[in-house]
Amino acid sequence: MRLSYLILLLLLLVPSAYSEGLPELGEASQTDLSPLQERQLGESIMREIRADPSYYDDPPLNDYLNNLGYRLISSSRDPKTSLELFAIQDKEINAFSLPGGYIGVNTGLILLTQSESELASVLAHEMGHIMQHHIARMVGEQKWSIATSLATLAVAILAARSNSQASQAAMVGGQAAAAQSQLNFTREYELEADRIGFQTLNNAGLDVRAMPAFFERMQKAIRFVEGSAPSYLRTHPLTYERIADMENRAQSVPYRQVPVSQDFQFIRARLRAQEESPKDAITNFESSLQEKKYISEAAQHFGLAVALMRVKNYDRAEQELSQSRKMAQPDPLIELVAGQIKLGEGKIAETIAIYQAALKRYPEYRPLVYATSNVYLLNHQPEEALKLISDRLQYYPQDYHLYLLQAKSYADLDKKLLQHKSQAEAYYLLGNLRGAVEQLQIAQKSGDGDFYQLSAVEARLKELRSLEAEAKKQ
Ligand SMILES: [Zn+2]
Repeated sequence: MRLSYLILLLLLLVPSAYSEGLPELGEASQTDLSPLQERQLGESIMREIRADPSYYDDPPLNDYLNNLGYRLISSSRDPKTSLELFAIQDKEINAFSLPGGYIGVNTGLILLTQSESELASVLAHEMGHIMQHHIARMVGEQKWSIATSLATLAVAILAARSNSQASQAAMVGGQAAAAQSQLNFTREYELEADRIGFQTLNNAGLDVRAMPAFFERMQKAIRFVEGSAPSYLRTHPLTYERIADMENRAQSVPYRQVPVSQDFQFIRARLRAQEESPKDAITNFESSLQEKKYISEAAQHFGLAVALMRVKNYDRAEQELSQSRKMAQPDPLIELVAGQIKLGEGKIAETIAIYQAALKRYPEYRPLVYATSNVYLLNHQPEEALKLISDRLQYYPQDYHLYLLQAKSYADLDKKLLQHKSQAEAYYLLGNLRGAVEQLQIAQKSGDGDFYQLSAVEARLKELRSLEAEAKKQ
């Protein structure tokens, strides 16, 4: 019963922060939850989401979403807002923001967009909700009893994101369902998020005309969905008034020719190749190439290569990839797929050669770092994997993927203390403090570390235990 655990956690977490009198009622934009509380609420919900099968842990897609998110937020009125974007594997058209700066985007929505500006207009709107702390304000305005409201809010937010969660929420009780209906943003909040989203989009140099165009397309697409109101409409009432407002605003700024984003076209083509059945994907890419119906020809060849790889047609996949390479700007994603094709053929040495060359060129592209480490591990070269991972951890100490790979490498080297210490860091970054403490306890008892390693484990254990005690007090 993960959800009831969440409720319990929130009941434990919330009241004492209130007893400290943190947020004052009537503050400019945060009537109720403090930024710290928003963060804690968001983290609790994220623990649930990451454990859900629909959480799409696809490094290239998440890397792309976060780059676009960073580009937008750094041009916004509040560039220091912390953000984490992630994909949800779900055909339903939806995007949602959570307290604390988390933004989830359904694959169904990404596939409906036709340009980077269209996708960015949805993200920028969600950032508007985050920057204005709309959920925190709603909690304040509705004057629910504090402990209940946060717990039901957490469940309701989860329920709003997918049908399976909605049924789970229904089991918890009618209160969550009631809260869910109260979670619809008001007309004022929607208009505010639109206005801020528009400014953000414009400041980031993207096409503001994409905003009304895409919201209109989304409205049409959603109308054809059968059954109950889809999540996006439920949580963001989309009215003609809003679309008209967006159009007026878009007409008030000079026309701007925004170049086609190769990153977007490639990531979307790859997603299509992965989400459709391989047969459909191959047919669709082939016919759009034949009919010359595309925005980026290079992306069509790239998507076709990915689809062909799924049916193990590696020779043709390689041909399509080299077609794509000829037409495109240099792109680490092409190298990633080039390696995957070789790996599919069982040519591990060639895969490693491709990745090593690519890493020299794109040392900061982490999906390539993960892929290379995995191939090293597959090829029984844990020392090589470790060298690569430890080097990148210096720059990205918040990256749980790197810690998970580090733990695997140590496991292959039979270094138990270090393995469990790395696993503990991964759990810690994933918000699983209990799991992190347990891993450090196992590390402590492993009996294979030297004095310094053992002292480091003990020091970290002490730190995390005091964090845990603090959380329990609240
Ligand atoms: Zn909205």
